[in-house]
Amino acid sequence: VPSEFSLIERYFARPAPRAVLGAGDDGALVRVAPGMELVISTDMLVAERHFAADTDPEALGWKTLAVNISDLAAMGAQPRWAVIAVALADADETWIAAFARGLFACADAYEIDIVGGDTTRGPLNLCPTVFGEVPQGCALLRSGARSGDEIWVSGSPGCAALALAHMQGRYILSEPALTNFVTALTRPQPRVALGLALRGLASAAIDVSDGLAADLGHILERSAVAAILHLECLPDTVLKACSDTDLGLSCLLSGGDDYELVFTAPASRHEEIIQLSIRLDLPLTRIGIIQAGPAGQLTLLDADRRPLPITKRGFDHFAS
Ligand SMILES: [Mg+2]
Repeated sequence: VPSEFSLIERYFARPAPRAVLGAGDDGALVRVAPGMELVISTDMLVAERHFAADTDPEALGWKTLAVNISDLAAMGAQPRWAVIAVALADADETWIAAFARGLFACADAYEIDIVGGDTTRGPLNLCPTVFGEVPQGCALLRSGARSGDEIWVSGSPGCAALALAHMQGRYILSEPALTNFVTALTRPQPRVALGLALRGLASAAIDVSDGLAADLGHILERSAVAAILHLECLPDTVLKACSDTDLGLSCLLSGGDDYELVFTAPASRHEEIIQLSIRLDLPLTRIGIIQAGPAGQLTLLDADRRPLPITKRGFDHFAS
C-alpha cells in the first residue's frame, strides 16, 4: 500500500510558478501584488451529499476546484492559488490519478497554482481553499444592489439541474440537450472573465450555486432591497428543453450547480453590459429590477404581470 506521502508526491506535486514557494515545506509562500487585496474562499464537497461516490473521478477533480473558483469569480477576483484537503476511503491509485488529472486540468484552465494540501484516510471528502487577487476596494459584494438597478444573469441557469433530473431518472433528456446539460453539471465553467470585467460595473454579484432565486435572495438580503423578476425575460434554454413545465421552472429558479453569475448594475450601464456580452461571447440577460421594499422580497411576474409563487428556496409548484 503506497504511503500518504508517496501518493501526494506522485499525483499532487506540481511546480507552482505563481507562488514564492509551493508544496513541500510546512507552508506555502505567496506574494500579493502591491495594491491588491486577497479574496479567500472555501467550499467542501462531501460524497453522497454533494456528489455520488461513484462519480467519474476526473470530472469530480475538475468540479471540486471549479466550484471554488466560481466564488472568486463572483467576487471579481483573479484566481491565483489553492490548497486542497482530501479525505479518501482507500488509496485507490487509479481513482487518485484520474481525480488529479481533472483537478489540474481545471487549475491549468484558470491559471491557479495548487500550492499545498493534506490527505488523510476517511470518508471521501474534498475541501479546497482558493485565493484570488482583486484591486483594493474593487471586490464585487452582495451588499451593493440599489433600488432601480437592473438584475442580470449569465448563461442559462437550470441546465445542470435538469441533467441531474435525467441522471436520477426523474426526466428523460435527449440529444443534443443531453450532452450539453450533462457537461454543465459535470464540467462547470466558472465565469472568471465576466467577474473581472464586472469590476467597477456591477453593483453586486453572486454565483448561482444553490439556485437563481436563493442566490439572488442573498443579494437582496445583504443589500436590504426587494426585486421583481419577469418570467418571460429569464433565459429559457431549460424551459424549451423540458416538456414538464413545473420541472423546467423548478430547475430554472431553484436548480443549483450551474455556477453562472447573477449581478446587478445601474440601468445607466445597460449598454456596456450588452457590449460585454458580445466581447465575452457569453449570454448576459436582464431578468428584472431592484426595488425598494422588504429586504429579501422576491416577486416573479408572468407575462400578464401576475405574481407566481416563489420563495427564497426557489419555485413552489403552481399547485401549492
Ligand atoms: Mg458562492
